[in-house]
Amino acid sequence: ATPTAIMVATGVGANNGVLIKGGDALERAQKTKYVIFDKTGTLTQGKATVTTAKVFSGMDRGEFLTLVASAEASSEHPLAKAILEYARHFHYFDEPSSRSDTQNHGVGSKSFGWLLDVSDFTALPGQGVQCFIDGKRILVGNRKLMTDNYVAIPDHVENFVVDLEESARTGILVAYDNDLIGVLGVADPLKREAAIVVHGLLKMGVNSVMVTGDNWRTARAVAKEVGIRDVRAEVMPAGKAEVIRLLQKGGSIVAMVGDGINDSPALAAADVGMAIGAGTDIAIEAADYVLMRSSLEDVITAIDLSRKTFSRIR
Ligand code: ADP
Ligand code: MG
Repeated sequence: ATPTAIMVATGVGANNGVLIKGGDALERAQKTKYVIFDKTGTLTQGKATVTTAKVFSGMDRGEFLTLVASAEASSEHPLAKAILEYARHFHYFDEPSSRSDTQNHGVGSKSFGWLLDVSDFTALPGQGVQCFIDGKRILVGNRKLMTDNYVAIPDHVENFVVDLEESARTGILVAYDNDLIGVLGVADPLKREAAIVVHGLLKMGVNSVMVTGDNWRTARAVAKEVGIRDVRAEVMPAGKAEVIRLLQKGGSIVAMVGDGINDSPALAAADVGMAIGAGTDIAIEAADYVLMRSSLEDVITAIDLSRKTFSRIR
């Protein structure tokens, strides 16, 4: 392709909300053999919603939600935001008294006056959060967080979590003073175009792979919904980049699509890194392409544009 053709293609991309950082990235995309998709915020909308809150101790529901939300209040994680939102609605509708301790009115107002004081807050990436309330430790997160801290997961709780995971939800476990007191189920729906794009890529001869820090059962259920057979779950950020390198060793050109800080090592390692426009700045910096509309259709747009620009047959 001539420099003019590359310039034109870059312009066409920009008009479609696909920002391309340079001619090399534009050229590599045509040979893409694998597209590695991050799950949360990339294949899914990244708008988590709490669908279930189950208390296993004798604790009152409102008290349970107050504890969990207070523990998550300092976390930036999408799961934490979903939990705070759920607890806020609960307090608004079920405990009218909590409405009076704020000047704000209506469920739309951000009234968090009921949150408890916490100390020694720690975020544990890929696992959850830990802090202290009333001098007792509270842990909110996945199984690994519980087992690493010697909190026993009784069979009936484990079964409850397995059921959530098999219906594509993430189970969040809560321990207070070393007792497992409850579980939250969180759903994060697929983007509307996700399955169509995976199918479209296959027709173009491109294989899709899903990679996530979430657990295997939820990952498999989501992958099945979207039509991806190749899944890698319970992967830490460095592990995501390792997945890319292994596929590259087989001689393939590999693209990565992601939105999170967690994805930036993989976006940098990929031959073609594509960041979701709505994603974090760190992901956008690490990528060769930015999909400004945050639509997965633009993964196809990008590969198509490269093929049309560099193919000899016009
Ligand atoms: P992903 O690759 O899907 O973005 P993360 O690495 O952010 O996943 O997190 C992996 C898992 O760790 C989550 O699915 C969840 O179980 C747990 N986790 C992480 N942060 C939190 C949090 N703030 N509250 C509860 N659980 C969390
Ligand atoms: Mg993500």
